[in-house]
Amino acid sequence: MTDERTPLDPEIRARIAQTGPMPVAEFMAMCLYDPQHGYYGHRSPFGAAGDFVTAPEISQMFGELVGLWAADVWQSMGMPDPVALIELGPGHGTMMADALRAARAAPDFRRAVRVHLIETSLDLKRRQRATLSTVDDVPLHWHATIDDVPGAASIIVANEFFDALPIRQAERRPTGWHERMVAVDASGALTLTIAHDPLPNLGPNLPPALAQAEIGEIFEWRPAKFAIEIARRAAAGGAALIIDYGHVKSATGDTFQAVRCHRHASPLTSPGLTDLTAHVDFEALGKAAQEAGARVHGPVEQGTWLKRLGIEARAVALLAKATESQRAEIAAALRRLTGTGPDQMGSLFKAIAFSATAIAHLPGFAP
Ligand code: SAH
Repeated sequence: MTDERTPLDPEIRARIAQTGPMPVAEFMAMCLYDPQHGYYGHRSPFGAAGDFVTAPEISQMFGELVGLWAADVWQSMGMPDPVALIELGPGHGTMMADALRAARAAPDFRRAVRVHLIETSLDLKRRQRATLSTVDDVPLHWHATIDDVPGAASIIVANEFFDALPIRQAERRPTGWHERMVAVDASGALTLTIAHDPLPNLGPNLPPALAQAEIGEIFEWRPAKFAIEIARRAAAGGAALIIDYGHVKSATGDTFQAVRCHRHASPLTSPGLTDLTAHVDFEALGKAAQEAGARVHGPVEQGTWLKRLGIEARAVALLAKATESQRAEIAAALRRLTGTGPDQMGSLFKAIAFSATAIAHLPGFAP
């Protein structure tokens, strides 16, 4: 048996015993958000000592460029004052801290900014407060959901947020698309199976190109709620920036994965102790945003986006003031963030943005 009996394990089994196999999305939501035993409830997942490293934790350059991007976008919006700078899933708060510091170069923007951080984990909220404790001249607000943020002119940013939202999966069978479920097998281990009956209403979620999928192929999707909500805000006179790893075109494939201590693991192993994610479908995001009335920019590869925003010049400026060991770190960070190799983030990660239709260009999305 491969599964480890974590504190969440008996709760998952009890629910399966009671109501039968549960959809992958329900399993993922329990593992990530269970207030007592969920992954985000009790761990500090990021950084060298955690399970994975995100771009803002690799280098201050990332958050700085996001801050300058926001200042530039604010100009295109007609410099509304106040303006809500909203971040979804801020992790340790590093990206916002770096963004606000860089925004000192645009004092009018910084004065207009009201920061709204959307976070479900109380533990991470404490981390964010600590990281941002020296910010005393910009109002900071925390919310559990974006629905609680006042509907002012908004700039929304989200790094590695969408990959953590629960996915649904369906498998193509001769009888149609059947939802993938987590069940308990004869040996007592958690296992993946499919629902007996086909899904009646996959039609609207299924991209036309996949109508001919082969038997056994898997399609993943996320409820469009978040994409629609932020696109609606962007369309009303703002902009949103999403950076994540994923594919530019909707496609079949099973990308449900667990990461623990920088290693891939089975998503069913150690429920609540591993980070569960799945690739982001940027075509689906763009489509949802367009339907919500926003103009869609990109996606472009993260490396391209960062270079267009001037990450190389920023690295040169940092190198000029750096010690010998810092120089090596800065060069390595630049390669990691922009490189196109399999262990680098430059082309694995993509940036997409939504805006009001009146805003024709956003920095980094066109040459
Ligand atoms: N953006 C950060 C952290 C990414 S991890 C970085 O780049 O380092 C995902 C973050 O989203 C965590 O802070 C997690 O607690 C938060 N999160 C996940 N699902 C959420 C939800 N449904 N609502 C609000 N925050 C969520």
